[in-house]
Amino acid sequence: MAETADQIHLRRGEADMGSVKRSAKITRREFVKGMTVGGAGLAAAGMLAGCAQGPTPTPCPTPVGIPEKWDKEADVVVLGFGGAGAVTAVTVVEAGAKVIVLEKAPHTGGGASSISGGFITVTDPDKVEDAATYLYTACFGLTPKEVCRAWAEEIAKTPDWLTQHGIEFMKLTGPFGGADFKNFPGASALWSIDIVPPGEQVMNKGGRVFMEWAAEYLKGKGVEFLFGTPAKELIQHPETKEIIGVWAESGGNRIAVKAKKAVVLCTGGFEANEEMIGNFIRPAPIKCVGWPFNTGDGIKMAQKVGADIWHTNILAAAGLTFVPPNSVLGYWGMGFPGPSYIWVTRYGKRFTCENPSWTMHRAFMGFDIWNWKEDQTDPRYLAIPFYLIFDEKMRQAGPIYGPATVGPTTIPEGLGGLEPWSQDNTKEIEKGWIKKANTIAELAAAIGEPTLDPAVLEETIKRYNEYCANGEDPEFGRPKELAGMGAAQPSPNLVPLDTPPYYAMQMWPAVYSTCGGPRKNEKAQVLDPMGNPIPRLYEAGVIGHSAAHVYSTFGQNWAEIMAFGRIAGRNAAAEKPWS
Ligand SMILES: Cc1cc2nc3c(=O)[nH]c(=O)nc-3n(C[C@H](O)[C@H](O)[C@H](O)COP(=O)(O)OP(=O)(O)OC[C@H]3O[C@@H](n4cnc5c(N)ncnc54)[C@H](O)[C@@H]3O)c2cc1C
Repeated sequence: MAETADQIHLRRGEADMGSVKRSAKITRREFVKGMTVGGAGLAAAGMLAGCAQGPTPTPCPTPVGIPEKWDKEADVVVLGFGGAGAVTAVTVVEAGAKVIVLEKAPHTGGGASSISGGFITVTDPDKVEDAATYLYTACFGLTPKEVCRAWAEEIAKTPDWLTQHGIEFMKLTGPFGGADFKNFPGASALWSIDIVPPGEQVMNKGGRVFMEWAAEYLKGKGVEFLFGTPAKELIQHPETKEIIGVWAESGGNRIAVKAKKAVVLCTGGFEANEEMIGNFIRPAPIKCVGWPFNTGDGIKMAQKVGADIWHTNILAAAGLTFVPPNSVLGYWGMGFPGPSYIWVTRYGKRFTCENPSWTMHRAFMGFDIWNWKEDQTDPRYLAIPFYLIFDEKMRQAGPIYGPATVGPTTIPEGLGGLEPWSQDNTKEIEKGWIKKANTIAELAAAIGEPTLDPAVLEETIKRYNEYCANGEDPEFGRPKELAGMGAAQPSPNLVPLDTPPYYAMQMWPAVYSTCGGPRKNEKAQVLDPMGNPIPRLYEAGVIGHSAAHVYSTFGQNWAEIMAFGRIAGRNAAAEKPWS
């Protein structure tokens, strides 16, 4: 018979205290280990509280073994209060189990979910099989059919679930909604809705509306939230491999949170972790226009307890961004208020049609990732970053980033959000974010790229202006006229840069959510590399998203939140307590 957790604890305690006695010179880690299992567990953590303080805080070491004393306990511990954490917690509490939510952000939480639109993919109950086929096709066989079917079955229930909870939504029509790939089998089964504020039919605020509702609802149900409490490591039974709790950090101290039934990882993506982006995604860097606390913590925690990882190479891309100096986040929702602009590489040459047919979700694919030259001296991708060059006509036409109801400018104060962009772009010029000069040669110098030869930039613009005069762009096929989204008539698009001053702004590809993480099954259980569930460990949301190969549906992330939040919540609440 397997030992109980407490027996294991006792056995390890004896051994560890023995080692403490044997060695007069012990490491800091051994000290914590010995103290933790020897009866002074959190006292030890308290004695090391200084480790997280001071001008250069060092991370607290994690105590080893099973804590003798738990600071908090619940049936189900949910890590992360974004959309997935919210749906999971609602489901757990409605199943009659006690839940604690740990959130890394110092207050509020909400994740990318709270600064996003609430577009959600749904399907009709009688089209579940078609919807599953669509997802399976788009995943190119990388997600098992059972997971696709579980996703489809659950998204069919989402409209009813929202209605039961008094959450209003509207059906999306036109260019928004449903499958991105209309010719894949099953595509017509999918459509999209957007959560709307009560009594209003206003699009693109749905994430915030949902998160505000969830916070109130869960507080009303007595759910405990621990903000400013990042989970650090999962506590795994050394023999049964069950996940029985979490080490978290609170006020510079380690705390142990017991999960009698299960832990659910809802810690979002790794979009704010440039190193993980560089290792998992191509091209890179891609800059974050989402939630600054999403640094892939849950992925690492799951890896440490033996999880397999999947789908790390896909993401929900978010067009182009400008990133202010010293900011993790870039601006979201770029517009081109006028047509007198081009894009150039750090070498001063155009590299693509500036009105590409990239869709929002796959914008980064437009960057020529194969364009490596054997004699190049700069290891970066040719067009990452690149420069937007425009003239006074466009500067006067409107803000490059208009007012937004979602994205980093809507992040609550104190959580690292960006201030709104000025209406006439002048504030950004004054700050030096947009470089300004009276001639192209001076502009090239102001940009300050060592590889940018002013003569090359002058030649690029001269040639582009000639294309405008001729009404044809033989190099990149930029259309002479273009109909913007919703515009009745096409408007001029090949418009010269001929009105000084001239401007330049550094641009990056943008991501609002990565999608990869721990592999899961249709029950939302996290799997090891052999396909076996890690006992009592579940996940929901974009961490370990079902979608693979390509991001394929409008509202697919919120669909994942809703579907696997409920699946994880139900199954976690149904576990038998281990103590
Ligand atoms: C501008 C914008 C518009 C978007 N529009 C849409 C849309 O219309 N439809 C759609 O489907 N998707 C949209 N998205 C994407 C979507 O919002 C996200 O992918 C989704 O909300 C992620 O949900 P989540 O719950 O998995 O993660 P999140 O909502 O990001 O929540 C994760 C939470 O975990 C917390 N956390 C991280 N690490 C730890 C830790 N160690 N311990 C404890 N907590 C931790 C984070 O602070 C965060 O609160 C949009 C995103 C943005 C930015």
